[in-house]
Amino acid sequence: MTKTKSNQTNKTNYVSTTNACKLCKPLGACIAFRGIENCVPYLHGSQGCATYMRRYIISHFREPIDIASSSLSEKHAVYGGGPNLKKGILNVMEKYEAKMVGIATTCLTETIGDDVPQFLYEFNEEFGDQGLPTLVNVATPSYSGTHMEGFHATVKAVIDQLVGKTDMNTIAIAPKTIIPNVNIIPGLVSPEDLRHLRDILEDFGIAGTILPDYSDTLDAPATDEYAKIPEGGTPVADIAQMHQAKATLEFGRVLAATGNTGGELLRDRHSVPHYALGLPIGLRECDRFFATLETTTGQPTPRKYTQRRGRLVDAYVDGHKYIFGKKAVVYGEEDLCVAITAFLAEIGVKPVLCASGGKSGHFQEAITAVTQELLREPPLVKEGFDFYEIAEEIEQLQPDLLIGTSKGYPLARKLQIPLLRVGFPIHDRFGGQRTLHLGYQGTQRLYDQLVNAVLEKKQADSPVGYGYL
Ligand code: SF4
Repeated sequence: MTKTKSNQTNKTNYVSTTNACKLCKPLGACIAFRGIENCVPYLHGSQGCATYMRRYIISHFREPIDIASSSLSEKHAVYGGGPNLKKGILNVMEKYEAKMVGIATTCLTETIGDDVPQFLYEFNEEFGDQGLPTLVNVATPSYSGTHMEGFHATVKAVIDQLVGKTDMNTIAIAPKTIIPNVNIIPGLVSPEDLRHLRDILEDFGIAGTILPDYSDTLDAPATDEYAKIPEGGTPVADIAQMHQAKATLEFGRVLAATGNTGGELLRDRHSVPHYALGLPIGLRECDRFFATLETTTGQPTPRKYTQRRGRLVDAYVDGHKYIFGKKAVVYGEEDLCVAITAFLAEIGVKPVLCASGGKSGHFQEAITAVTQELLREPPLVKEGFDFYEIAEEIEQLQPDLLIGTSKGYPLARKLQIPLLRVGFPIHDRFGGQRTLHLGYQGTQRLYDQLVNAVLEKKQADSPVGYGYL
């Protein structure tokens, strides 16, 4: 498969995606639903979609994940998938005793125009006397977006359909003894990142709701008995009370620029103050996060974190001579690329290309916002890019390292340069789910890894074999 350019018009005359730099939209929905307590993700579509997504998620998180499916066939593509959807939900109720079922659509059911809210209304009418689980639905046609858009759409749908509700069929809404101070909507970060955020809230001495929270469900301890639905996740009762929080902190500069987020819905519908922040990676973005926590909670940043900040600054000084002026290519989902680029710009590494399969239309402005005061030469920013196009650009740019998911490994191997693995998915290394990216501590880990990757390359390329660098 090739992409060629017409000499006369200089326009691409054959368009295809070759090794996409994004994943399927409902896959993001399944991960988000997995972060809600006692929830089973459910795909309204064919069995193959669920199988592909399970495999992809399991290979990164190294945890089993059950994703229910309507198992639609050719017949349903013609006559509609409503009856199978209802049968499927009844099956999930019987086999899992789930308290919530999170239903995401797929390419097939969006293409044939299945009206899922109508099916669920009918389902409630038919079976409402059987003690139904809470049902949340989200439209996630994969041809219209990425896994990140599916993830964010799901978070927004959960807020839309659950916050402030007290009439859910089976959820006893027990009021929290402590009203939560803050909501945190972190986006698709790692389970380790979520645990770190929980620790930060605890150290500030405040109650908070993190939505979603798959820190236990997608990185669970070993148990003697297999649990069909692992323990953990954001309780539905807590979600229902998110409108009572003092503020919502939502991560993602690109997400914020879309003006269509769960945090904004909480603000517009329930008057919860909304703080849109970049992912807290790098000194500046972390400072903004901690300053916002101070403002919203009235508490000073605990000494543990100011000490970590100080150590990070010290490390920046110590490592500068090794990495200054190195060129990096950053790729993957837009908001993580923006955060990593902000981090690179402040440590003296030149981001030369920022590429994403996402097409939000806000990638360039977000990169500019975090780099314009720090870089003399702005990086090339490309949205809607695939790995074929990244490889083409890289030939000219000659980077010293790549930063992104494991999907960039073939490129790193070809160029014989280091790949710093971040984000999702990481399929060729162990412990991707325990990668800490956020906070001063996550930044410290990334920084140490980056410096060491540069040193290792230098050592490997040297004919002398220096043992002292
Ligand atoms: S058909 Fe669509 S929803 Fe299903 S796996 Fe493929 S891209 Fe994802």
